[in-house]
Amino acid sequence: MTDLGRHPAAQGVQIASITGEPLSLKLVEPLVTSAATYRRRDTLLVRCELEAEGGQRVVSGFGEAAPLDGWTDEGVDDCAACLEQLQRRVVDIAVGDLPEMVGRGWSFPSLRFALEGAVLDGLARLEGLALRDLLVARPGGQMGDASAGLAGGAAATVGVQTVIGDGSVDETRRAACRAVRDGATALKLKVGNGAVSRDVARVKAVRDVDAEATIRVDANGAWSVEQALRAFDSLGPLNVDLVEQPVSASRRDELLDLAARSELDVAADESCTSLDAARALVDDGIDALVLKPGALGAPLEVRALMDYAADCGVRVVVSSLIESAVGRTTAAHLAACCDADGPHGLGVGSWLAEDVSRSRDAIVGGRMQLSDAPGLGFEPRLPPRPPTSEVP
Ligand SMILES: [Mg+2]
Repeated sequence: MTDLGRHPAAQGVQIASITGEPLSLKLVEPLVTSAATYRRRDTLLVRCELEAEGGQRVVSGFGEAAPLDGWTDEGVDDCAACLEQLQRRVVDIAVGDLPEMVGRGWSFPSLRFALEGAVLDGLARLEGLALRDLLVARPGGQMGDASAGLAGGAAATVGVQTVIGDGSVDETRRAACRAVRDGATALKLKVGNGAVSRDVARVKAVRDVDAEATIRVDANGAWSVEQALRAFDSLGPLNVDLVEQPVSASRRDELLDLAARSELDVAADESCTSLDAARALVDDGIDALVLKPGALGAPLEVRALMDYAADCGVRVVVSSLIESAVGRTTAAHLAACCDADGPHGLGVGSWLAEDVSRSRDAIVGGRMQLSDAPGLGFEPRLPPRPPTSEVP
């Protein structure tokens, strides 16, 4: 359960209204998942109006619900239906009463991420703090109290990785050259579509492009244990930083066995289907977690999981579900509170041909720059709705 009601910034603040607005953002290239191919990214922008000091101060906070087949059981329609009911019910409730008011919809992780995200953004705006500096405060503490965690604040930049899709060795080398020229310091290669030897040759080509870069590979569960072990033998000497989901999420024991046997760090991505699943992987010896906060739950719940993983020596990679700037920036502020160097899977704003922020994500030298302005750091604006004929 989330600690939202106990957050120091939530004391005496009321939720005056919650509204939702559908977003349908055009993608630069179709997004292919195991479940479907998308030309647009359909999500819900949530606006939460907060009142403080008996209604003297009113701000709006923003969150985003971005369910995605294969990652969430709920769809956009389920979240929209819950929001519509909620819209009618919420009038001046205490922040801590939100979960109860949402009822059944609170079991939808993507909606929980959006609703609590919107409230936290609003609370940060009320406090005049960047969202990341609100997220580091400890529930039960006092705002401005050093023990609440606000003294140091969180990092203002977050390391991000550039994804290199499947391709020939030459195509992979060219993509790596382009990325490094653009300032990337961390490269993640999609592997597992061809022979292991071809993937190893691709990684070697990227290592030849940049001897210093952080290189990761993501098999999306495509390898067998034998293929994974063969790949690991060759990838180790190439100084690969970690291997994401070498074997299928349905083979949990094999994944953990690989993590135990291999010198290379093994990360669970598709296996992190819920906060509980991710926590159990930490307990059972995984090396790293790839967390998509937008598919897992409320930001403070995700934050607690990150702390738990860190305490257990497990690395966390925060990753986007290809949300608009609202969801993506919420995830980036979460990343800034754990291991800001990452690198994290958040450099994907350029996948969208349209967005709700006025400016593109600023990524300089492989680091995403977060605004110091209160909350998320920008006011979202809705792009024009697509003509109905264009909606898939
Ligand atoms: Mg992955």
